[in-house]
Amino acid sequence: MIVGIPREVKRDEYRVAILPVGVEELTRAGHRVLVQAGAGDGSGIPDEDYVASGAVMVDDAETIFGEADMIMKVKEPQPEEFPLIRAGQTIFTYFHFAASLELTEAMLKSGAICVAYETLRDSAGRLPLLTPMSEVAGRMSVQEGAKYLERPQMGRGILLGGVPGVKPAHITILGGGIVGANAAKIAAGFQADVNILDINMERLRYLDDVMPANVNCLYSDRHTIREQLRLADLVIGAVLIPGAKAPNLVTREDLKIMKHGSVIIDVAVDQGGCVETSKPTTHSDPTYIIDDVVHYCVANMPGAVGRTSTFALCNVTLRWALEIANLGAEKAASLSAPLGTAMNICRGEVTHEPVAKTFGMSY
Ligand code: NAD
Repeated sequence: MIVGIPREVKRDEYRVAILPVGVEELTRAGHRVLVQAGAGDGSGIPDEDYVASGAVMVDDAETIFGEADMIMKVKEPQPEEFPLIRAGQTIFTYFHFAASLELTEAMLKSGAICVAYETLRDSAGRLPLLTPMSEVAGRMSVQEGAKYLERPQMGRGILLGGVPGVKPAHITILGGGIVGANAAKIAAGFQADVNILDINMERLRYLDDVMPANVNCLYSDRHTIREQLRLADLVIGAVLIPGAKAPNLVTREDLKIMKHGSVIIDVAVDQGGCVETSKPTTHSDPTYIIDDVVHYCVANMPGAVGRTSTFALCNVTLRWALEIANLGAEKAASLSAPLGTAMNICRGEVTHEPVAKTFGMSY
């Protein structure tokens, strides 16, 4: 099979869909890999490294889309890429179809086979191609929180760990899943006073077992949330109710009880946010202030740390890319249950129930 890796064209996107080691593995399995020149630039991977691993470098996206049987990407196809996608061509990437009717209709019309990273579910029911990005966003949320707590960034002027004789920052993390646990781990390392809230008691018990002593695991109810908001210097929003909009755990009224210059990093903004006043922002203009509370609501946080995110993503996508390349997407999806769950659209038909339901389409 010919596998094509175009350069990402979405704004603020610095990741690339394959590492040189992936090129080597695909080539060893008998496939030919075309990589667009400069595709790895944003992640610090030079063209020469791809060539040394067996890739054929191609200057333009048109040739890649024109020749490849399977395209591997990071972000969903952009409107300028729609006309390049061919019937029967496999596209393996993040799609998030439910968020865009335009994208869904374009892919149905193209006749392509769309295998989506975000719905691939393993035998334990986990979403292994989403996990690394939650790990990145969770760890990064503390880094961003530390930055925006600085006075020149309009924060309270607080150092996360404090110093001898001065209290550390009070951090409240709403949701103790992958984002929340990763945020807690990093915040604890900074010696902050960390409080993680969840409604899943099993999860709280687990976190209580594994987290260091400066992490408190608390049940997430309205009283505890309000009490935490009064104390917090930094609030990290990390809740998820799968398939639904995130619940508004912090209302507009609640901002009034928060300290002036406190910071909210609403990682859950990609699912609507868990703070009533959250609205998506970008890396070029990440924050805004309401009632003296700094809001950071970047919907694609991992894009800013492209190199780490590229390695984290490619570590988990390669084995599935190899299966698809070896068998063809349709056969691979019929033999592998996880790949079956990733198949969203096939040759003009929606093949994933939630996408069909979202748009009232037949399935
Ligand atoms: P997860 O499923 O691992 O964790 C979510 C947690 O929220 C669960 O433990 C759940 O019990 C908890 N929860 C649900 N309702 C709650 C409530 N009322 N109070 C407290 N906790 C509650 O999900 P995750 O992988 O950690 O992802 C969290 C969010 O971060 C998702 O919306 C995800 O899409 C988003 N995310 C955003 C970015 C970004 O760049 N902004 C990147 C990665 C992930």
